[in-house]
Amino acid sequence: MSGTDRYPHLFAPLDLGFTTIKNRALMGSMHTGLEEREDGHLRMAEFFAERARGGVGMIITGGISPNEEGGLGAKLSTSEEAARHKVITDAVHAADPDTKICMQILHTGPLAPHDRCVAPSPVRSRIARFVPNELDEAGIEKQIADHANCAARAKEAGYDGVEVIGSAGYLLSTFLVEKTNLRTDQWGGTYENRMRFPLEVVRRIRATVGDDFILIFRIAAMDMLQGGMSWEEVVQLAKELEKAGVSIISTHFTWHESAVPTIATMVPRAAFTSVTGRLRKEVSVPCITSNRINMPDVAEEVLVNGDADIVSMARPMLADAELVKKAAEGREDEINTCIGCNQACLDHTFGGNQEVSCLVNPRACHETLLKYEPAKAQKRIAIVGAGPAGLGYATVAAERGHKVTLYDSASEIGGQFNLAKRIPGKEEFYETLRYYSKMIDVHDIDLRLNARVSAGMLQNENYDEIVVATGIEPRTPNVEGIDHPKVVRYVDVITGKAKVGKKVAIMGAGGIGFDVAELITHEGKSSALDIDVFAKEWGVDFENHPRGGVTGVEPVIAKSDREVMLLQRKTSSVGRGLGKTTGWTHRLTLARRGVKMMNGVEYLRIDDEGLHVLIQNDPQTLDVDTVIICAGQEPLRTLFDELEASGAKVSLVGGAYEAMELDAKRAINQASYLAAAV
Ligand code: FAD
Ligand code: NAP
Ligand code: SF4
Repeated sequence: MSGTDRYPHLFAPLDLGFTTIKNRALMGSMHTGLEEREDGHLRMAEFFAERARGGVGMIITGGISPNEEGGLGAKLSTSEEAARHKVITDAVHAADPDTKICMQILHTGPLAPHDRCVAPSPVRSRIARFVPNELDEAGIEKQIADHANCAARAKEAGYDGVEVIGSAGYLLSTFLVEKTNLRTDQWGGTYENRMRFPLEVVRRIRATVGDDFILIFRIAAMDMLQGGMSWEEVVQLAKELEKAGVSIISTHFTWHESAVPTIATMVPRAAFTSVTGRLRKEVSVPCITSNRINMPDVAEEVLVNGDADIVSMARPMLADAELVKKAAEGREDEINTCIGCNQACLDHTFGGNQEVSCLVNPRACHETLLKYEPAKAQKRIAIVGAGPAGLGYATVAAERGHKVTLYDSASEIGGQFNLAKRIPGKEEFYETLRYYSKMIDVHDIDLRLNARVSAGMLQNENYDEIVVATGIEPRTPNVEGIDHPKVVRYVDVITGKAKVGKKVAIMGAGGIGFDVAELITHEGKSSALDIDVFAKEWGVDFENHPRGGVTGVEPVIAKSDREVMLLQRKTSSVGRGLGKTTGWTHRLTLARRGVKMMNGVEYLRIDDEGLHVLIQNDPQTLDVDTVIICAGQEPLRTLFDELEASGAKVSLVGGAYEAMELDAKRAINQASYLAAAV
């Protein structure tokens, strides 16, 4: 059965009256960091064109501000600026004339990173740097006019439409919510008045661009704010937006300041689509749903259930530009699935001015820089180690036409990903292993498992290149009593080989320390696999939809019957080094389970009494029956040293190259660049 037969709803065209979208797959808006770069338009042109060739029906660009106050480095208000955008729209329409591309208009309002930021009232968001300036009547008129002008310039630039973001705590949404709109004039007070600004923006845009231009409004269908929008308010707004002239309503599920994760990997797939489904019944324009929809079967199910007309997949299109094409051709098992880690995308966006990419696909947003071109001459390449680094190298080198042999001493590919996938909430890591496994077949890589490689084994094989990707070995801290029977290693805990008692000290609070704490305190089903469990743990009421979906709902999370202490030597707060957009969820979850986090710990010795430490110079004995070592890692380079000593041509990649601050993002990225050049 072809993919189009298997996913009939996903591949059904959507007639908007004045134009048709060829399928229901949307690449949702994501800021890439290219918007502000001098050469950004050329790079975005290739980035989006590649996704157009990959079969997506419609693309929404990253946010562009309508004026300086809008707060992003990238603005569109002049014809000169429109000319730069033309490069993007031309590239997309040349790649596929049937692919639509819309530009997102984003006015960050009180979240703008400068003191000229504006809002309905001078209410500072808990995540903002400045108290915003209250808009006066003339200021409000200017913002509306600037939105309309921005849309007109987008049309001039060749876009098929615009999306206006009316959610997330950005300008338009702050008019809607009582706590951010304290006005008593016609723009505040009653809900009719609070809706006036976003509705006026939509009316003015429609009047300016005419009827044959796609106009999408992104609404906060569940803003996850205590005291946020009620369901009745959401519905009323949607109905008014329809009257004001939107072509499509896109549903969003959070404000940036809310305390519920909505896109991290521990959020179940398609967790929020039922909310869109309910809204869809209230309006007659098409509705877009989003969040953690990362594979075609998930998208199809959402559409079959009647929960949406269009399915937005933003990060999944970073992970695989050809997601839609592969689905259409029945090659779903070749899709490089977004694992929801945020490590190379949103952590970069919110972590400063880093460019976005993707952990599983370093080419994302780097299409003009990282190219997998056919090799000029085929080489025979041996790669030792089938962890993320070895897999990344092997698949790119083989795709380019090299003859690759991939060795691993283990009985399965994946290296440390085989540990990561066992952590509750990290189930998506299985998808990456499925993808690489398929790529090994597709590119005819000679895979040799259960093969511990020594230098001698490779000597007579006459490989042109040998790549050592042997990874790491866990560090053993130099502490008295480290060989005591109550001391266990994280690898043995995760694989279930080591018994863990009821009173536990975890030595080391990096990513692995947190993962181990999650594993040993977790009870029942993983929230990533069950929407009800997720809703309970994070205090979301999908059924009754109180204000914001969360007002008055207490998160219920089972306290662990283990007493767990997560320790580090540094005096910085525990978990500070975790991902920018996801670290808080791990810290909060463990704290709710009763895990104690301690910094400034000096380890003295381990004996029958427990772990003896100094905490802020105060001697203490932690009465524990198990000490789990999660104290970082050292490169495993024995093979490399032997090969180098024998004079072989050999290179290093991944953890074997550098274990300090290593993660899969760096391992795959480094491997891909090296393999693209070999
Ligand atoms: P490895 O994954 O260690 O792979 C090395 C491979 O080499 C192994 O398969 C090994 O069997 C093989 N090998 C070694 N010696 C030989 C030999 N002589 N002959 C043959 N084969 C050999 N990173 C993230 O980015 N995000 C996460 O969320 C994340 N979570 C993690 C959770 C856990 C519990 C763990 C343990 C790690 C996690 N990591 C995460 C880290 C990530 O998995 C590593 O950074 C990554 O696996 C390093 O890749 P690598 O290929 O360099 O090494
Ligand atoms: P890590 O993040 O470097 O943490 C190592 C921990 O061990 C730190 O808490 C460190 O803090 C402590 N430590 C270091 N040397 C020690 C010593 N000699 N004695 C005692 N404690 C010591 O490494 P990791 O936790 O092993 O993780 C490995 C990599 O996998 C990391 O780079 C991480 O990014 C990645 N990973 C990522 C995630 C994720 O969710 N993104 C999850 C898991 C792993 P002190 O020195 O202050 O004690
Ligand atoms: Fe998805 Fe992670 Fe890639 Fe972001 S970095 S697109 S979350 S796989």
